[in-house]
Amino acid sequence: MLMRIGGKDTGGLDDRWIEVKNPATGELIDRVPSGTTNDVALAADAAEAASGNWKKKTARERGLILFHAAGLVREQHRDIAQLLTMEQGKPLREAVDEVRGFANILEFYAGISAHSSGETIRLGPAGDCMVVHEPIGICGAIIPWNMPVLIMGWKIGPALLAGNTMVLKPASTTPLSSLKLAAILEKAGLPPGVLNVVTGSGESVGAAIVRHPLIRKVSFTGDTMTGEKIRQMASGHLKDLVLELGGSDPMIVMDDADIDKAVEGALRGRFYNTGQTCTAVKRLYVHEKIAGIFLTKLKMRVESLKAGNGLEPGIDLGPMNSAVQRERISCMVNNVTERGEGTILIGGSELTGPSYDAGYFYSPTLVSDISPGAQLITDEIFGPVLPVMSVPDLDTAIIEANRSRYGLGASIWTTNLATTKRVFDDVHAGIIWVNRHLTVPPDIPFGGMNESGMGRENGSHALDSYSRTKTLYLGW
Ligand code: NAD
Repeated sequence: MLMRIGGKDTGGLDDRWIEVKNPATGELIDRVPSGTTNDVALAADAAEAASGNWKKKTARERGLILFHAAGLVREQHRDIAQLLTMEQGKPLREAVDEVRGFANILEFYAGISAHSSGETIRLGPAGDCMVVHEPIGICGAIIPWNMPVLIMGWKIGPALLAGNTMVLKPASTTPLSSLKLAAILEKAGLPPGVLNVVTGSGESVGAAIVRHPLIRKVSFTGDTMTGEKIRQMASGHLKDLVLELGGSDPMIVMDDADIDKAVEGALRGRFYNTGQTCTAVKRLYVHEKIAGIFLTKLKMRVESLKAGNGLEPGIDLGPMNSAVQRERISCMVNNVTERGEGTILIGGSELTGPSYDAGYFYSPTLVSDISPGAQLITDEIFGPVLPVMSVPDLDTAIIEANRSRYGLGASIWTTNLATTKRVFDDVHAGIIWVNRHLTVPPDIPFGGMNESGMGRENGSHALDSYSRTKTLYLGW
């Protein structure tokens, strides 16, 4: 597939290419141009040229285009989901959810297109002020490979509705779904140049987006270390930044919880998308009174997970997205054994055999008796590995939950309201779920604290964040 710049398929000025391979089979699916700083400059020029007419449309007109695009995405969801599974590895069922999630986001923003676009402030004899929201201009979006479709939606939904034009860079392993969706948006009536997709590496295309003088806001989702680099790169340009970074979400299960429901929550929370989700359950703290039965049930459920090529029926767990990601997880788990930091209850190795050898499969893994300072606790585990610790009481659970530099999400499983309030007040996270984990509908603000980032996506908050206010002071 080619890049999409100014409504045209573009091969890239350098004629260099990136191969996109299926992480389950190693097969070549397609190739995309390896873009450069010059391609970003072309895309920014196209976004600038499209900006005037796009921002003159009413929010309702822009919303209608998003709504129409959502309809086309729903019609073609099977094809898009198949492409997503092939490039990312996730089971087709999860890919279908993600593509429908994208349509849902566009529908959500289309639905709030009549959202307040300003206010009047009356100052008595001193006059009246009219405050309006206007688009920022050209916004950059840099997205990761783990949920490429959903995260594209989180960025383009509010940014386009607010009247901005965009330059978007997908991750190098998952560019195809973004290109396909950009083409569908144009079919739905998005004018050429409003959304430009430039493929290529983070170091060239990503950095060029951050540095380009016409791009006034950048929304980045990815690793905390990359986010920090981007913050530094952007600092000389006074850019508006949203950084959605890593997470190490704790899940706390108290002794009054519905155990079966919590077991299913931990299973889905950790192993959905092969554990490669920012808000996955990455640390599990279970009250010691129920830890034995809880772990027995969870282990049985983990044993029942079927790993394989996500395009085949009945698959629960796809491959990891790349060799690098699998290697990182392997090292972290090997360290547990070598340093005596926990007990591997199940899994703990790469999956081998005819169905697995060509891909990047890793066995679903449970580690019990994890020590609080273990790397599995201090670092983000971006794969199918769950460390579990039993805790004597809520106070200890909260201390352990906060033993992290991240602060994205957390969940408490209990039937006690006072316990819920305590966790909500005292655990550091941008979202606290009660008796669920992982769900992020487009209606609610989403984002992290501490090293999980800054800024919020989703909801009307995101719409506001893609606008700036301008005031007309009427002195009469
Ligand atoms: P990554 O930081 O390696 O890459 C993310 C994107 O940034 C890619 O498009 C990449 O090409 C680009 N990039 C890399 N280096 C760059 C640079 N120097 N300048 C500009 N762009 C650059 O992250 P990843 O491995 O793709 O994603 C996994 C991480 O993303 C995990 O830490 C996960 O928790 C996090 N994540 C966070 C959220 C959230 O909403 N908080 C959501 C999903 C994923």
